Amino acid sequence: MAKYHVPFPAARSRDILKNTLILPIMALLNLRTPVKELSRVGQSTASRLKNLNIATAGDLLWHLPFRYDDLSQITTIDKAGGPDVITVKARVELLQNRRSPRKKVMITEGIISDASGSLKVVWFNQPFITKNLATGDEVYFSGKIEEDRFGRCLKNPTYEKIREQQTSTACIVPVYPATENITQKQLRFLIQMVLPLAEKIQDWLPQEVTKKFNFLSLSESWKQIHFPETQQKLNQAIHRLKFNELFLIQMHNMRLKNELEKISAPEIPFHEEQIKKLVSSLPFQLTPDQRRSAWQIIQDMQRHHPMNRMLEGDVGCGKTVVAALAMYNTVLNQFQAALMAPTEILAFQHWQTINTLFDPKEIHIALLTNNYGLSNQPVAAPSRAKLQEELKKGNIQMIIGTHSLIQENVIFENLGLAIIDEQHRFGVEQRRHLKSSSGDKNRSPHFLSMTATPIPRSLALALYGDLDISHIKQKPANRKAIRTSLVRSDQRTITYKFIETEIKKGRQAFVICPLIEESDTLGVKSVNEEHKKLQTHIFPHLRIGLLHGKMKGSEKETIMTDFKDKKYHVLVATSVIEVGVDVPNASIMIIEGSERFGLAQLHQFRGRVGRDEHQSYCFLFTENFNPAIVRRLSLLAEHNDGFSLAEADLKLRGPGDVYGTEQSGWVNLKIANWHDTEIMRETKSTAESLFRQDPKLLTWPLLARKVERFSHRIHLE
Ligand code: ADP
Ligand code: MG
Repeated sequence: MAKYHVPFPAARSRDILKNTLILPIMALLNLRTPVKELSRVGQSTASRLKNLNIATAGDLLWHLPFRYDDLSQITTIDKAGGPDVITVKARVELLQNRRSPRKKVMITEGIISDASGSLKVVWFNQPFITKNLATGDEVYFSGKIEEDRFGRCLKNPTYEKIREQQTSTACIVPVYPATENITQKQLRFLIQMVLPLAEKIQDWLPQEVTKKFNFLSLSESWKQIHFPETQQKLNQAIHRLKFNELFLIQMHNMRLKNELEKISAPEIPFHEEQIKKLVSSLPFQLTPDQRRSAWQIIQDMQRHHPMNRMLEGDVGCGKTVVAALAMYNTVLNQFQAALMAPTEILAFQHWQTINTLFDPKEIHIALLTNNYGLSNQPVAAPSRAKLQEELKKGNIQMIIGTHSLIQENVIFENLGLAIIDEQHRFGVEQRRHLKSSSGDKNRSPHFLSMTATPIPRSLALALYGDLDISHIKQKPANRKAIRTSLVRSDQRTITYKFIETEIKKGRQAFVICPLIEESDTLGVKSVNEEHKKLQTHIFPHLRIGLLHGKMKGSEKETIMTDFKDKKYHVLVATSVIEVGVDVPNASIMIIEGSERFGLAQLHQFRGRVGRDEHQSYCFLFTENFNPAIVRRLSLLAEHNDGFSLAEADLKLRGPGDVYGTEQSGWVNLKIANWHDTEIMRETKSTAESLFRQDPKLLTWPLLARKVERFSHRIHLE
């Protein structure tokens, strides 16, 4: 493979460099050119670049500074001093290497001067400097001045000969993520070399948008983000490139939203009287947020287009009953409603809850999962095939199940509403499937997703722009804050004593175990051991149940029902089957090896208790008291509410690794971050206004193509 050589850094004039060398070379390069075909990149440099995830010229362009050192202020030698890094423009008067008295260190010493005076410079262990610099050279030096008994001295300064464009001193200096063996100077050189490629990138942002925000051109933004001329231009470049990134996400969301708007859905009017009757028959009063959410859902469903709503609310806030109201209103309109849960056990619980609300004489409800089928009608346990048949005929009005409801050959007569629990949204594929299995291929059902993962507002704006969001903020009034504490090994005994007292008062406890070994994917081993330990050593007088992923659906169901019926005092379970379980009498949550879980998941576990008026407790057991872990776990003790916990976590961990976003499917923002709320707002309103003007984006073919490619790249599944 040919190599393109660019002489560097001997070329002094940027114009010569640009006109005679870079341009013809650039004609041969493109963003996909592998770095090893670039000048001065040998096999070993290429493999070091690989450690930085840089394989192509384009990757170099995207290798962005994580910091900038502003060394643009030039001082004169007589004024140089103080604690900060200073930069001087000076002539090399003298330069030589010598060994330190103890011969270990190579010292490079020199004298530099400008019109105002002269100054000593010294470097340690960089003898090659005498090859790079020579007496008489005009050079910029940046470093700190130190004073000792021999006078003032500039120690280990960064230096760069005076060129058309400085990149390492006397400017705003980009500082890149680097590894051992790759220096900042090398990276700067390589990036500067590929930068002209940015001029070839087509600017897909519509003119009017660029104008409105007074953006720099795309290629100028790339230049300025790497080698900013001024702080202001840097800010403009960052703004522009962040905007680009977030704007594409918004455009993608709007496109999804637009597609749904083109599809028709059954109009489902509000049966006010019956719904009110159901609400007044509940053993509790709905909270205002529950009412509002139910109202929003019912409003959406009266429209001729599919609802696409997410019902968001912290664990235990009461989303299920809101879902049940929507299902009921659907059934009252002669449409079927489906509720899907992530696990069998949760599907079973929903089944139990929903059954307590409705009269079997009025509504036919069924449960359908991989392992079992149940019906509320007075017939013997129906087979799966029988249930599927009834569903297809439209005899079953409400169906509850796992995701197998959409994966398998389940056909509806007229599905009006599909609800998915503990998930942020329906995927594109799931929607397509439900549309085709809903009984009328020209129509789509309405979609509602429910999630307990609290999503900071900024995230919601960026990630879920295609969704309408209902948010349940308040918890039911009877709830007390859960007391959460970290428990060290030496506090175990006393904690177990406390737990026993609570149990004697009539409460129940969960114990969640982490998966200890990779091979034990279903957690059988870890829960068995914990169960044995608790039963024989800790609580020999109590009844202790056991639940793990290897059990059959019916076994799990029996254990859960028995636990609910207080046949066990304690239930030891794996984390695999945890989500969404509702046992209001349980008031103690013990989490073993809590440091192994993420905060979002711990908060989910904790949400299993505190579900009625008892004071509830969450004990985070850990053997690992390293400060970072303690700090992270302490957030749970400090924040009872998932929302403020999420925000605190966002602050602690910073962008890139945000609470709960593993669920979101796409987190790798390269330039923007999740704190960029203002830019998210800008991009959202811009995307909305473009779609209003021209929903097909015909006015902006470049943008249309870019968005299409972006959508293609992202798999929401
Ligand atoms: P989640 O939002 O986590 O799915 P659930 O729907 O399981 O929460 O509700 C948690 C518990 O709160 C259930 O036992 C439910 O019956 C109860 N609940 C729901 N709404 C209210 C309310 N408004 N007042 C009192 N208890 C309620
Ligand atoms: Mg729930």
